[in-house]
Amino acid sequence: SSATPSLPCATASRRPRFYVARAMSSHIVGYPRIGPKRELKFALESFWDGKTNVDDLQNVAANLRKSIWKHMAHAGIKYIPSNTFSYYDQMLDTTAMLGAVPSRYGWESGEIGFDVYFSMARGNASAHAMEMTKWFDTNYHYIVPELGPDVNFSYASHKAVVEFKEAKALGIDTVPVLIGPMTYLLLSKPAKGVEKSFCLLSLIDKILPVYKEVLADLKSAGARWIQFDEPILVMDLDTSQLQAFSDAYSHMESSLAGLNVLIATYFADVPAEAYKTLMSLKCVTGFGFDLVRGLETLDLIKMNFPRGKLLFAGVVDGRNIWANDLSASLKTLQTLEDIVGKEKVVVSTSCSLLHTAVDLVNEMKLDKELKSWLAFAAQKVVEVNALAKSFSGAKDEALFSSNSMRQASRRSSPRVTNAAVQQDVDAVKKSDHHRSTEVSVRLQAQQKKLNLPALPTTTIGSFPQTTDLRRIRREFKAKKISEVDYVQTIKEEYEKVIKLQEELGIDVLVHGEAERNDMVEFFGEQLSGFAFTSNGWVQSYGSRCVKPPIIYGDITRPKAMTVFWSSMAQKMTQRPMKGMLTGPVTILNWSFVRNDQPRHETCFQIALAIKDEVEDLEKAGVTVIQIDEAALREGLPLRKSEQKFYLDWAVHAFRITNSGVQDSTQIHTHMCYSNFNDIIHSIIDMDADVITIENSRSDEKLLSVFHEGVKYGAGIGPGVYDIHSPRIPSTEEIAERINKMLAVLDSKVLWVNPDCGLKTRNYSEVKSALSNMVAAAKLIRSQL
Ligand code: GLN
Ligand code: ZN
Repeated sequence: SSATPSLPCATASRRPRFYVARAMSSHIVGYPRIGPKRELKFALESFWDGKTNVDDLQNVAANLRKSIWKHMAHAGIKYIPSNTFSYYDQMLDTTAMLGAVPSRYGWESGEIGFDVYFSMARGNASAHAMEMTKWFDTNYHYIVPELGPDVNFSYASHKAVVEFKEAKALGIDTVPVLIGPMTYLLLSKPAKGVEKSFCLLSLIDKILPVYKEVLADLKSAGARWIQFDEPILVMDLDTSQLQAFSDAYSHMESSLAGLNVLIATYFADVPAEAYKTLMSLKCVTGFGFDLVRGLETLDLIKMNFPRGKLLFAGVVDGRNIWANDLSASLKTLQTLEDIVGKEKVVVSTSCSLLHTAVDLVNEMKLDKELKSWLAFAAQKVVEVNALAKSFSGAKDEALFSSNSMRQASRRSSPRVTNAAVQQDVDAVKKSDHHRSTEVSVRLQAQQKKLNLPALPTTTIGSFPQTTDLRRIRREFKAKKISEVDYVQTIKEEYEKVIKLQEELGIDVLVHGEAERNDMVEFFGEQLSGFAFTSNGWVQSYGSRCVKPPIIYGDITRPKAMTVFWSSMAQKMTQRPMKGMLTGPVTILNWSFVRNDQPRHETCFQIALAIKDEVEDLEKAGVTVIQIDEAALREGLPLRKSEQKFYLDWAVHAFRITNSGVQDSTQIHTHMCYSNFNDIIHSIIDMDADVITIENSRSDEKLLSVFHEGVKYGAGIGPGVYDIHSPRIPSTEEIAERINKMLAVLDSKVLWVNPDCGLKTRNYSEVKSALSNMVAAAKLIRSQL
């Protein structure tokens, strides 16, 4: 039909004309910008260090953009995104585009340059950085806009149009991508001094004029498409928010005329009401859906999809590293085509490929078989196109058959399935797991053994990781130093850390985690079913990346993982020494997980392995064991309807790990990241003896739940200072914090500890801060 937008596409000329009847086309929501070998990271960091100049940085960035666009064009992708590159973060780019720079950066007008841009991201000598928070339920962090009634919005960054033109000059026609106005506003926060109740959506009339200017600019540069990312639509928006959504897009209608408009949603299915709102938008040419995470959307599409509109079907997973099951995707696409009509389906990724690793080509150490099961961003682009091509009649039979062979090899591999583990998990799932004695009684049994003072002091686990330490671990791994030498070096490190804690007067000690590179990798490397990449980096924030392990098979623990280290450490002191483990939910949430079984199955498998470790530690005489669940909160599903199920199995998995220990064994857990108020009942349900919890960056929001009367009988240590900052908190300041906590928590349950591990700090900071912390605890103790 005539409503179908047409765009010259790279492969059009190669397509035989008689296939046009089945012309399904291809689209990529967004692409990683960090580079296959983290080129952007290194360019940014040397620029920030003053080792390189603006041109150097811009050159690296331009080369990355060029190679990404060329890769997509060569693969045959029809709708290629632009403006998904970012020097730091796409939300911050939008803040720059709108000129919404907080006043503390001293910017008034003109195009926003690197100076102001990076100051907002990282702070400068006179102004602290803007806050950063998690992008939906991913491990990517965005810079949170600070808005209020006084912000003067203006078109202050032309990045979108500049990138569009840059691609055009390379002969590539792109779809410029903007974060939609609703997602932008709803992810903002009221600026300091602005009332918390300030309605961010009231700013919509002020930002739309800027969006309109951008659209006009893009149109005159020759853009024929515009993609608005509106992932906020998958959240539980209320009626007035949905109304604001349609109003915003109707408002832009005249500016959108002449452009094909795609609204992309992702990360979950779109709730029925939001779907209705979306479908009623007049100005839209196509809608994008995540069909990997949002299975219910398919039903909504079946019930109602407006004639003549395009459906961007996100069938290739943007958040994982598995090769797509092409024939299964083809079936989904055929179903969709039957519903919405020929030529109306566009094959796409479930979300931006930002959340997966960049390019499998650089993995030299993964074994061939495992590698054949994987696809990173670069390979996913090829998959998207292969699916689209098969619809246009040009099915690449060789590719499809090799794909189905690889899928079959993964399904039947003995490396993947271990019947004994599956049976154990089936058994464990059926029963509940609780420690047999109630927490208050357990605490008494533990106190008999530990004999701790009131307000006991402790730390979270890691001590500063010096470059020397990192080098030693690297050399040991590369077999450049012997095991004996390695153990000796680590032992000396323990001695140093233990002596320091004893001198400081800390009550419950840690060994400092010198033997660990990373709290997940350390365990993953010792469990079966895990694999590690060399370059499978995913941007976490700014120039920072993480390299999640890949869980590919059923998990077992061939032998004890920490007993050797923890018992060595315990023997070095009279004081209690915590055995330190990472919990099952955190290992799961910080890994690329299997897509061939539900997440909770994998989590229970990890729980069983950790349970064995806990019990071995106990047998070895370690009487305080900390099981970190740093990432429990961040795995919370976006939709309220799915949260209870997650929390139930996550908490159950945690309890499996320690329900078998004696009353006198003290189980600690630790959690990072603010906003646990909504899951406080699940935290209580974890039934740990002591929980240490990050608190100081969230304005002691945590304490408000106790103000509201939530009863907490177990030990609890809300962090008394922020370890992310080099600032040394004074004794008075910490004492004041402790007093605030005592206003809502019984002195019998309160622990005194920092927010999180000390890994990223240096020794002089750690010594001063901990010494003040212990002094504060002693001071308050004496006043009890
Ligand atoms: N035990 C870990 C450490 O101290 C916990 C880290 C974390 O919570 N992210 O480093
Ligand atoms: Zn932490």
